[in-house]
Parts: sequence; C-alpha cells; structure tokens
Amino acid sequence: MTYIHNTIVKLQKTSPAQAEFYQAVEEILDSLQPILETNDKYKQHAIIERIVEPERQIMFRVPWVDDQGQVQVNKGYRIEFNSALGPYKGGLRFHPSVNASIIKFLGFEQIFKNALTGLPIGGGKGGANFDPKGKSDGEIMRFCQSFINELYRHIGPTCDVPAGDIGVGAREIGYMFGQYKRLTGRYDGVFTGKSLLWGGSLVRKEATGYGCVYFAQNMLEDNGLSLSGKTCLVSGAGNVAIYTIEKLYELGAKPITCSDSNGTIYHETGINLATLKTLKEVRKVRLEEYLTEHPDACYIPASDYPQDGHAVWRFPAQLAFPCATQNELTEQDAQALIANGIIGVSEGANMPSTQDAVEVFLAAKIYYGPGKAANAGGVATSQLEMAQNASMQTWSFYEVDEKLKVIMKNIYRNARDTAAEFGEPHNLVLGANIAGFRKVADAMIEQGVV
Ligand code: GLU
Repeated sequence: MTYIHNTIVKLQKTSPAQAEFYQAVEEILDSLQPILETNDKYKQHAIIERIVEPERQIMFRVPWVDDQGQVQVNKGYRIEFNSALGPYKGGLRFHPSVNASIIKFLGFEQIFKNALTGLPIGGGKGGANFDPKGKSDGEIMRFCQSFINELYRHIGPTCDVPAGDIGVGAREIGYMFGQYKRLTGRYDGVFTGKSLLWGGSLVRKEATGYGCVYFAQNMLEDNGLSLSGKTCLVSGAGNVAIYTIEKLYELGAKPITCSDSNGTIYHETGINLATLKTLKEVRKVRLEEYLTEHPDACYIPASDYPQDGHAVWRFPAQLAFPCATQNELTEQDAQALIANGIIGVSEGANMPSTQDAVEVFLAAKIYYGPGKAANAGGVATSQLEMAQNASMQTWSFYEVDEKLKVIMKNIYRNARDTAAEFGEPHNLVLGANIAGFRKVADAMIEQGVV
C-alpha cells in the first residue's frame, strides 16, 4: 500500500491540483497490488514511475473570433500518454470543465482501455475548455480550425490519431480534418469518427453504446442470465446513451431513463428512441422538450436532484448504464441502486462511478463492468476505421459489428480470466486493470528505458 501512497504524494508535488488524475491512478494502482507483489520486474524497470508520467503533454492557446467580432481565447490540450502498444489514440473533449487533470485522467484510463482491446493502439487524450453549447456553426468551425493550427504538427496516422469525445462529433471532426488537410496537404487517416462520406467507418457512431451493451450481455450470459426483459437505467443523452438505448431495445431490454445536465427523464413505458434522437441529434435542444411529445413521462430538473447524488439512479431497475460523465454515480447512488434491486452495471462513460461507489458494487457482488472495459468498443471501432483507411477498404455494417462483438467478448473474457487468475473471480475492475497493465508494462520493458 505504501507505494500507492508514495506515488500519489509524488504526483501531488510534481502535478499539483489534479484530483481526477490522482483518482484514476489510485484506482489502477490499487488493483495492481497482486501483480506488483509477485513480479519484481515491474519494480526493477520503474514501470509505475514511468507509466504515470505522460510521454509528452502539449498545452496551447486557441484564439478565435466569435460572431460578434470579439476575440475569444481557450486552452487546448493533447496528452500523449503512452505509445508502447501503438500510436497514441484517444478522443478530444470540448467542454467547459476541461483542464489538465481531466485530460490526464482520461489519457491514463485510455492506455489500459486500449491495451484491453487487444489492438495495436497506445493511449492519449486531448481537448479544450471550449463550450460548444449555444455556438453557431461558424464559431464551431473557426474554433476547430484554430485548434488544429497548433495541433496539426503533433498528430499523424502513425503517431497520434485523435477522435471524438464529449462535445466532439462528426461535425467537429470534419472541420478539424479539413484544416489538417489544408495545412499538411495530406489526405491521411489522422482522425477517426469521420463522416461516412469521406473515410469514416460504419458502426463507429454506434460503437461505444453498442459495445457497452454487448459487454453487459457477455457478463450476464456467462452467469446464466440475459438482457431480455430487464428494466434499465441509462444516464446521459449523447451519442453513448442513445446507442446504448438502441441496442438495449434490440436485445429485448427496456430502458426507462436518460438525462442531460439540466435534468432526468423517467418514462415508465420505455424511453422513446425516435424522440430522443430527434431532440439530441437533429434539433440539439434540452431533454425537457421530451415531455411535449410524451406527457406521460416525468422530468426531474437537476435542481431537484438528491444532494448526495443523482435522480437518474433512484428508480427501481435491474441494470444500470452510466453513459454521461466522470463521477456521475456516487456512493449513495450506488447504495440506492442496490436497495432497488440492481443486478448489473455496465459503464459507457469514462470513470462515471466514484471510488466509493465502486466499492459498494464490489462488496455487493453485483455484475460490474468498469468503463475501461465496458466502453472500449468506441476506441476499438476507431482502430477498425484506421485499418480500413490504411488498406483503402470499406467494410459493411455487418462486418464491423461482428468484429465489435468479438472484441467485446474477448475484453470481457480477458478481464474475467485475469480476475480469476488473481483469486478474485468476481472483480472485473481488478481483472481489467491487471490485464491492460500487464500488456503495456511488458511492452515497455521490451522496448527499454524510453
Ligand atoms: N473518446 C472515446 C473513448 O473515451 C473514443 C476514443 C477514440 O475513438 O479514439 O474511448
């Protein structure tokens, strides 16, 4: 335990005020104890000291002009965390909460998530403290162009391949790709999550949500259960939540909630997917408008949320799919879920459960799929997009979806088998963390002190 304490104390000195990053590091290190205790080589090669320090951190000014002619300035980031297994790979997040801590926690998680996919991709993450909400199309374009005016020199199809995350979808990727092409004169597969018109992959849009449900399916079926007929709580109303809901319906489950930062929708008869898609993908308006078409649903404004957690987790259901953002599910939320009969949780977001909430799930021995395993379908399908671009091929929806299913099954089995190997068969947090770590750490050792 002292090495965890020492590592965090050292990080607090060298990288001050990065609470989310320390949280992610602590969670990983906690799981790694059994492997670190039995393997001297990781200590000899100073793997922990090296793995918590990004290979490179790029922070830059993003100046742009708004529709009123005012100059605005945001802060841009790209953290190239670890390239032991392949080019840095991970999304860009545009959200006002973005800072070095958030990007570093996401980049750190990405290393192990990407390793778990079994595909040759390293870990990275980036973004900006830019709020796309309420911005015009022209403002979004000018911001994206300015962002790439700096970032273009650091990325490329064999060194660093960004994608989307919160606030970055096909539109933003389009503007960034266009500017990259203009500056470099190259038509590279340098981003994933591209439009289907010009190099994108089928299923990429759906992949994180579908993958998260496939993970739950594997976890349940392995234990003699099924998704069919299960009532599900889903949080979020973005890309991950929408395609989680879509796949849940396809597999016979009933999602009854979704949420955005303003409030939660509870619809007892099941969330209407067509309405949700229209509100969020076409009209880009607040979730509250769901009530106009479905007056029988309930809307709980964020101001009415329980002090110690979130309304979305306080309804009776058998499965929960946190698909919004980090730390959106507290210890009290986890206790409420257990009291209401939850049997499984599969995380579509990155680190959505606080560490105390995770402890509650593990102690209750419910089926718990941590984000870095359960939401890896997105980045895995990004790698399938890279493979199609590199070989100048386009695969069908069916082909990509079948590959995604196999990848999610393998991730589940890898986490399960590694958990069993270390004597905690139910603990997929431990299984996923050790399996991801072992691959990256062994590659780092083989590549020498770099
Ligand atoms: N942002 C996604 C994630 O958290 C996807 C990253 C990617 O496709 O590179 O994994």
